[in-house]
Amino acid sequence: MSNHHSLGEPHSSRLTPRQALDVTAGNLTGQRTFWISGKVSFRTNSRAGPPTVELKQDMAALPRGTPERILTCDRPMRVENFRRILGGTVAKLCGCVLCFVLSVATPLPAEAPGLSEMYALIRAEETNNSKIMWIIHEIADVYGPRLTGTTNLKAADDWAVKTMTSWGLANAHLEPWTFQPPSAATPVPGWENMELLAEAVTPFHGQLMVKPLAWTPSTKGIVTAQVVMVDPPGLTPPTGGGFNFFGGAPPPPEPKWAAPPMPAAAKPAEPKQPTPAELDAYLNSVKDNVRGAIVFVGKHVQVAEEMNPVPMRRSEDEWKSRFDAKNPRPFRFPEPPKVPEGQLTRAEVSRQVDQFLVDNGALARINDAGRAHGIIIAQQNSTYDWTRAVPTLVMRNEDYGRISRLCGDGTAVTLRVNIQNQEDPEGTTVYNAIGEIPGTDKKDELVMLGGHYDSWHDATGATDNGIGSSMMLEAIRILAALHVKPRRTIRIALWSGEEEGLLGSLAYVQQHFGSFENQKPEYTKLDAYFNIDSGTGKPRGAGVFGPAGAADMVHESLMPFADWGFMGAVASDSRRTGGTDSTSFNNAGLPGIGLAQDAFDYGSFTHHTNLDTYERIYEEDVREGAVEIASAVYSLAMADQMVPRFKAEGMPKPVPEPGPGSQAAPVRHVPAN
Ligand SMILES: [Zn+2]
Repeated sequence: MSNHHSLGEPHSSRLTPRQALDVTAGNLTGQRTFWISGKVSFRTNSRAGPPTVELKQDMAALPRGTPERILTCDRPMRVENFRRILGGTVAKLCGCVLCFVLSVATPLPAEAPGLSEMYALIRAEETNNSKIMWIIHEIADVYGPRLTGTTNLKAADDWAVKTMTSWGLANAHLEPWTFQPPSAATPVPGWENMELLAEAVTPFHGQLMVKPLAWTPSTKGIVTAQVVMVDPPGLTPPTGGGFNFFGGAPPPPEPKWAAPPMPAAAKPAEPKQPTPAELDAYLNSVKDNVRGAIVFVGKHVQVAEEMNPVPMRRSEDEWKSRFDAKNPRPFRFPEPPKVPEGQLTRAEVSRQVDQFLVDNGALARINDAGRAHGIIIAQQNSTYDWTRAVPTLVMRNEDYGRISRLCGDGTAVTLRVNIQNQEDPEGTTVYNAIGEIPGTDKKDELVMLGGHYDSWHDATGATDNGIGSSMMLEAIRILAALHVKPRRTIRIALWSGEEEGLLGSLAYVQQHFGSFENQKPEYTKLDAYFNIDSGTGKPRGAGVFGPAGAADMVHESLMPFADWGFMGAVASDSRRTGGTDSTSFNNAGLPGIGLAQDAFDYGSFTHHTNLDTYERIYEEDVREGAVEIASAVYSLAMADQMVPRFKAEGMPKPVPEPGPGSQAAPVRHVPAN
């Protein structure tokens, strides 16, 4: 947008700190109207030509929700051609809400703001003009959910391009890739649920809380049928209940009651995964029951009571030890347990049950959500093939439990279900949304920031990862609003297909950079990539792929935020993908930076669940997050050197990523006895 860029013209490219403050308020060219609130004092100098006004304001006095178009400054600022259009005398104006028309002072020759000056300007821009809650409102409330391949995600992408362009970002556009996860035999069309009804008809009547599993088919209109319970071996969830991404708090000391406690229920033995023959034998034994039935698959999960409240923030000591440069303990996703040779994994059992239900004419499949308090996680049919599953719902643990217990009494339970899902063939092409601030003397080098923009479909994907995307958008908006002229190009990427296996970022890395072993020309030009994707907390530490010097450089860029609780950066040498998109860069041997956050409700309530909404956004932290990220990105974009990388001899061994369709399982029908 031309207005935004007019600041880059020669007359204004060198700003004094005071003028830079003026830029913060968006007021270097033309006349603009600003609301002023809080403590205001000023004096005029009418003798020396046009009046010069100094405004002083107590920024801390600004209330939350102050109008966005506000002129504020925490030190004196000079403006000329001042004309008051509201209010009475100067004295009357003090401490009031005022409106001014201001125009520009002739720029004085001066040097560009230094790094610490820029950090202050970034912080001031977020303090005064924050847009982050508007951004997350758009992403979550207006466009959510943003399941990969859906028209919602495409509309959110288009909004991002339009919005980034309006902020003055250059080259905002969408980059396509073909949506085919490793477990899908062909490219996958979009899937969307259009209608959903699930209610009990007998012996009680009432709504049931359910969510549809993505990439499963529709029922043939409204179906009413009896519930049949099956319990194939090998589907018992490993934890038997709640799960906390970040690990729970240590258990409190046992209270010392005088009387001995009631005996606890015996813990069932850890189940063994079945062999194909064992699974076939079980499925054959229930074959005659499932035709025309609504099939509840798996025993009701008894969710253990959680006696310890889940901490919102991790303790300072825990953060300190995790990012202790001398003895780091970086977070790693636990490796999935290995299943002994000849036994089927849970996923394999579930896929086999799906095919069995299709082959034997079941009307619908219902799974237990297995979490307390109505939390439902409904992800996808792992084959992404509508013909290889019956219509499938995930039901809240409490409804599943009630129906299971009634069936256990020998009572017939009848449900009425209607699921209408829609396929979108255009969804096989999905997009990453890109925008940038061009660099100057090192413009072919890139500092990237981003996060995944796609979500699951059960809620609006606010914490996963609407807010991570919002923090990154807000960070680059701040830099654009300040009209920075970075040495390196700053590029934002909002990924798609992350939830199905980091697919969008893997495609992008392959398209643009290749890998250490197979480099494209841009490979050497990527300085670093910042990623954020674990909820609504501010960054508390960073994991940086590369030698110790890489972590040191990122640490230094974020050191000024020690007072906001930033603990440090630790180096990582793992090229294994997992968790989130920074690892797509690590996988290629590129400097991916994963920012670590406090848990808040993410691990306990919102991650991939039906409760992942705008209400769970913690505004203070995400605003600080945007400031920290904008500052760190700017710092790297201005540095003399790029972030150090592993030398060829020190580069860890590659960990190959499975390609599209490479893990698609063949159709397997259960042989008749
Ligand atoms: Zn995520």
